[in-house]
Amino acid sequence: MQEKTLAIIKPDAFSRNSGGQIIAMAEAKELSLIGAKLLHLTQQEVQGFYKVHREKVFFDSLTQFMSEGPIFVLVFQGENAIVRWRETMGATNPAEAEEGTVRAQFGENIERNAVHGSDSPESASFEISYFFNELELVR
Ligand code: ADP
Ligand code: MG
Repeated sequence: MQEKTLAIIKPDAFSRNSGGQIIAMAEAKELSLIGAKLLHLTQQEVQGFYKVHREKVFFDSLTQFMSEGPIFVLVFQGENAIVRWRETMGATNPAEAEEGTVRAQFGENIERNAVHGSDSPESASFEISYFFNELELVR
């Protein structure tokens, strides 16, 4: 099944110039870029994106981190793109991420973990539309 998923190269990885290497890892797994946007969000804009986590103890810290510098927001398309990108990212905690995954290679800790990926078709749909309109995704 062809799917779209939202990926973000987070401020930690972007500021260390790791964006290109991370995109190359996705492309190697047959995930194709169909949208891309470089943004520096306010904390309020991050809060809207991460609203499902608003009750979590780490919400303030997470939204502070995600607004500390530029992020690279990407849409990947491919066969089972949602699960495939999550497998490519590795576990949320880089210490538990499998060798060869993006988070094992580029993540610093459970918060500063280099990348985001949608976790379901519903979240992919919400997250893509948070950043992109139809005209901004290539066909
Ligand atoms: P994932 O990004 O793997 O889907 P979650 O949706 O559970 O993980 O969490 C969203 C983001 O919040 C994580 O990617 C990470 O940056 C941060 N986060 C998750 N759990 C924690 C935690 N226990 N402490 C600090 N930050 C966390
Ligand atoms: Mg998540």
